[in-house]
Amino acid sequence: MFQVEFLESERGHRKVALDGFIYVKQKELLGGVVSYECDRRRKRKNVESELQCRAKIKILNNILIGRLHDHTHPPDPARVEARRRVSFLNSSLSSEAIEMPEVITTEPQVDIMRNPEEIQSIDEQMIPFKGRIGFRQYLKDKPHSWGVKVFTRASISGIVYDIEIYTGKGAVEISELGQGTDVVLRLVENLPRFMNFKLFFDNFYTGIDLIHKLRVEYGIESCGTIRSNRMRGAVLDTDANMKKKGRGSVDFRFERHSEVSVVKWYDNKLVHLASSYCAVTPIDKCQRWDGTTRKYVEVDRPRIVRDYNKSMGGVDLADMFLELYRTDIRSKKWYMRIELTYQRHHIYSLGGFEVPLINN
Ligand SMILES: [Zn+2]
Repeated sequence: MFQVEFLESERGHRKVALDGFIYVKQKELLGGVVSYECDRRRKRKNVESELQCRAKIKILNNILIGRLHDHTHPPDPARVEARRRVSFLNSSLSSEAIEMPEVITTEPQVDIMRNPEEIQSIDEQMIPFKGRIGFRQYLKDKPHSWGVKVFTRASISGIVYDIEIYTGKGAVEISELGQGTDVVLRLVENLPRFMNFKLFFDNFYTGIDLIHKLRVEYGIESCGTIRSNRMRGAVLDTDANMKKKGRGSVDFRFERHSEVSVVKWYDNKLVHLASSYCAVTPIDKCQRWDGTTRKYVEVDRPRIVRDYNKSMGGVDLADMFLELYRTDIRSKKWYMRIELTYQRHHIYSLGGFEVPLINN
């Protein structure tokens, strides 16, 4: 019998923390049983099904009574801890008992910006915004569906270094490199070059040419999940073969011209990843829940998967911090002003960032 831990979210929804994973309430079943799904199911949007998690649990009277599907990612105790803090603040804030510090100020940000963290990732984020604006977007997998979509470069600890506001289809000319590549190249403009920074992104962005270009022209190492039709004809072991070999089976190719490695890994599903700096070795073990034997099993995990899973969470964390600030907005304390101010030269300012609006 496992007692689960409930966490309060900003909108009063209860989330559950268990073994380093976070679950969100999905639906109520018969007999008072409530089903919760892994919050990664909803986070990793537009990533086909790669690394998207389908794990669920069932809870009756605060007791865990069932599990369904494995997690496709390792537990993340640090994230649970951050969520715990958010939960604590939410419950305390409602009573207005504690003094909140100014969360976002300009000065410390400047220092952080001068010494960026080595590991960063690029992903999409929604700035909740209900006002009238031409490029308000709907992103169904984000905690706040309506708002302004931004492409974000964040560090592994959730600090946002740069953002670009998405102003809608057709607002910006897309080069022959493709939209994903264009976004990444604009977002690394302010990242120091040839300083060994590592950048992670999902398969919306990843391409062999992008990874090659980042290394050769920017001196930035990168890694991401990649769609199988973007691997420029690299032939890897067949899906059927790898499934036959079982969980943890892996194949890879090194593309000599671009010096990019592509790795195909079978866990629950088949995943393709590409990188300029890492590939299969060293292999380590990760814990996976096996639905048939109802036990945790150890699965071989190539280095590229470990690095990717460990490093991609930055923007998710930034999402979480964003929600935290929203709490203050609800209580009419504008610690973070989500204020879109139209200025000369299409400059929008957002909580201390000056964001040049591309084109438009
Ligand atoms: Zn999961």
